[in-house]
Formats: sequence, structure tokens, C-alpha cells
Amino acid sequence: MSKEHSAGRLHAETVCVSAGRTEKRPGEPLNVPLVMASNFRAGHKGEYARDDGTATWTALEAAVGALEGGSALAFASGMGATAAIADLWPAGGRVVVPTDSYIAMRALFEEAGRWEIRTVDITNTEATLAAAEGADLLWLESPTNPLLDVADLPALCKGARAAGVRVAVDNTFATPLLQRPLEMGADVVLHSATKFMGGHSDLLLGLTVTADPDLYKRLRRRRELTGATPGGLEVYLALRGLRTMPVRLRQGESNAAVLAQRLHEHAEVSRVRYPGLSTDPGHRRAAAQMDGFGAVLSFEVRGGGQRADAICEAVRVITSATSLGGVESTIERRAKLPRQEHVPDSLLRFSVGCEHLEDLWADLASALAATA
Ligand SMILES: *Cc1c(COP(=O)(O)O)cnc(C)c1O
Repeated sequence: MSKEHSAGRLHAETVCVSAGRTEKRPGEPLNVPLVMASNFRAGHKGEYARDDGTATWTALEAAVGALEGGSALAFASGMGATAAIADLWPAGGRVVVPTDSYIAMRALFEEAGRWEIRTVDITNTEATLAAAEGADLLWLESPTNPLLDVADLPALCKGARAAGVRVAVDNTFATPLLQRPLEMGADVVLHSATKFMGGHSDLLLGLTVTADPDLYKRLRRRRELTGATPGGLEVYLALRGLRTMPVRLRQGESNAAVLAQRLHEHAEVSRVRYPGLSTDPGHRRAAAQMDGFGAVLSFEVRGGGQRADAICEAVRVITSATSLGGVESTIERRAKLPRQEHVPDSLLRFSVGCEHLEDLWADLASALAATA
């Protein structure tokens, strides 16, 4: 995370704090105000918020764009942004999606019935590029939700580009602090800012980021026409969240690294998935293309789905809840959800928050003991 930010002279931590501010004039507020307006007096560029956004949106978009090295657009949610990307491809096009990936993204592509969908194990670079041959879009996610699979992003972007296939990367788990897919050759990046960027489980928001002016224009047009626009308060809170994202993420990540190791050594845990573990199949790739391993891990417990459910009920410090990326740790058994047939029954996805490490460990250890 300390790597110098390639888009400028500033490190990412500094960009998080300083981007999207008001002009440096005496008396200006430090923060761009929360603009609650649908329309603006005529005679000035930007008359209607659905088309032109507001100063509050622009501030967040400037910050996230600077972090990813492109131009960002804020949407009502991660799925709103996903739908805008999906909409760029005409009916009959072919889209390649990861077998393990965010559930609703796959549902969106499959249920629309507009595209030919191929699913592929994106840890297998050769198979992925073979599936992408002749496709319109290769959708990647790395690390994946919930198996923490790591795709070789530089190799896949390069191969897809050579084959004339566009690449979208869901960068929600890594955030631009840990991974910048545009620098690796991706065409567009997706964020659910609902997660680490917002960071407090109090908003829904999505973003697209691209360095391609044509893609930017078309995405912006999709937002205008579908009305998948963000709420003013949500944008304001997301930018506020972004200011502290490096500190929160670093705390969650350092907790996750220790907890992953301790779970790995625990007799009641059969498998841990965390790219930061040196034994993890994605470790070498993640170390090569990421500036850290993130704050989400998954683990399987002995005793099957019932035991995993019992652990969710037994935890006291950790919250039994869906979603991830908040200051609070959350745990969920993913196989109970649809479209997770490939996910082991006892797998618990664990989003590690900012609580004290030893409180989290004591909670996990006692939940494991109580359900033995
Ligand atoms: C949550 C999530 C999304 C969808 O974002 P929403 O803000 O819930 O619409 C997309 N991708 C990943 C990896 C997610 O975790």
C-alpha cells in the first residue's frame, strides 16, 4: 500500500485524503458540501442532476478516478454500475464470467437472457482465454467472492486485448489501494462502494472507472438514460468513507493475516482461503499483482453446514450478517444462497473489521469450541 501512486506524485493514502476537495480559497469549507438538488439555474453548464451530476458526485468521482487512474462515474449501487457495463454489449453478444464471482452479477447476465454466457474458472488463465476467444466481454473478479480465487490479471488483460475482447474487473475486494486493474490493461473497473469505500454499512453505491473516453461517454449515457443515479447523501458519505479507507483497510488486513494463520492451524478448520497465506494457491499471483491481500477470508469448518450455521449464531463480537467491508467484522455461510452450488457447504466468508485482533480471535475460538 505504500507504493507511490502511479497516476501522480502522491501516494494513494494521500489521494484518499486530499482528492475531491473544494478550491484552496480562504473561507471555503474543507469538504465539498452535500448538494441536494435535482436542477440548477439555467445559463451554466450542468442544469439537471441526472444528466450532469452535482458537485458532490464530482468530488467522489475525482477521488476514485485519481486512485484507479481513470475517469469514474458514481451509480446508485454496485449492481447499477454493473448493469451499465453489461448494457454496453448488444443482445446476442458473448460474455465470459467467473464461476466463482459475485452472485448478483452472474444472475444479471444470465437472467437477462440477452447474451450467451460462458462460465470459467478464472484461476486457469489458458482456459479463460480460450473461453474468451470470440467473446465481447471478459468479466473478471479478483480476489473472488467468496472463494478468494486470484486471477492472473495482467496475463488475462493482455491475452484478451490481443483477441479484441474487452475486460471488466470487479475490484471491490482489493480496492484501488491494493490493486489497479486499469494499469494492468483492463478496460473498465467496477466498485461496490457499499463495501470498503463506504466502510460503515450505511450506504449503497457503485462506481465504474475507465481510461477509455468512448467507454466513459457510453457509461455516462447509460446512467443518464436508466436513471441509476446515486443519492446525494450516499455520495457524500462514500467520500467521507474513502478518506479513512487506507487506515480501515490496513487494520482489517493485519487482523485478517493473523486470523487466517490461526484458523489454518486450528484442528476444527479444514481449509482457509486467504491469498496472504503462503500456502494459498493464489498467494504468488496476489503477491505479484497486489499491494496487500485484503481483509476478506473464507474458511471451512469440520462438521458441515450445520456446524457453520451454529458458529454464525455463536459469535458475539463478530456480526452474523451478509455483506462485507465495514468497520465491523461480518460472517456468513455462503452456500445457503442460490447460485453457490460450487461453494463448500461449511464455508464461512469472513470480512475482517477494525475490532481488536484478540477480541476477534477469542470470539472465533470460543464459537469453534462451543459448537464442537
Ligand atoms: C456487493 C458486491 C457487488 C454489488 O454491489 P452493490 O453495491 O451491493 O450493488 C458487486 N461485486 C462484489 C464483489 C460485491 O461484493
